Amino acid sequence: MDGALAMAGEVRLGAAKFTGSGMTSDRTRARMVDVLRQRGIKHEKVLSVMSEVPRHVFVEEALQERAYELDKALPIGFGQTISTPEMVAIMSELLCDRPGGVPKKVLEIGTGCGYQTAILGKLAKDVYTVERIAPLMDKARRTLRDLRYYNVIFKHADGHFGYADAGPYDGIIMTAAASHVPQELTAQLAVGGRLILPVGVEQQQLYVIDRTESAFQQRVVHDVRFVPLVSGIV
Ligand code: SAH
Repeated sequence: MDGALAMAGEVRLGAAKFTGSGMTSDRTRARMVDVLRQRGIKHEKVLSVMSEVPRHVFVEEALQERAYELDKALPIGFGQTISTPEMVAIMSELLCDRPGGVPKKVLEIGTGCGYQTAILGKLAKDVYTVERIAPLMDKARRTLRDLRYYNVIFKHADGHFGYADAGPYDGIIMTAAASHVPQELTAQLAVGGRLILPVGVEQQQLYVIDRTESAFQQRVVHDVRFVPLVSGIV
């Protein structure tokens, strides 16, 4: 009997961790989405997915109250930061606005804490995500398992080379800034696929590259600031 009560308590505790309260509640998340809308994000599916995913569970407890501040790139350890909700919304919208619509198969370079991964996991059918820092990847894997994602494959590798085995992809997102566009990534785009990545060292810009039947079309959409893409794995 005691055991059964303890079990029930555990279930409630577990649920509260994901549901949140106060600054981590559904209402706070809905407000975040309202502000994203005011700032020009229009894609309804992206907005609805961002209202569902509990961003606070991806950051450490002491920072959870700040998880829905729009412009905050909070630390996630190892000198890395979680991308801001606004940047996640912008990149996700660019991905879904491609001519072929919401992509089915997506590759993400730079898993970090896994928040962008979780958004992609709700948008796409299959997500492949590559991270060079093993403990970060393991933590993201646990968080997504707890949230019951079954469509995300993790790979501990240097994302400069993409993940050729599972390609080609309808969409590729990179969440660290490269000094140049890695040719391995454009090569892993399907025809009709779109690559979104920050490029630059001092000055960074967000590039959108579309693969057509015969060529790659490249445009620059925003000035941005990301942590650098680093070679090798740890
Ligand atoms: N979208 C993530 C962003 C984290 S910051 C989030 O919101 O949490 C960028 C991530 O890219 C870091 O986790 C960093 O370790 C990773 N990264 C940097 N260079 C990389 C590379 N060459 N291959 C794979 N991941 C890389």
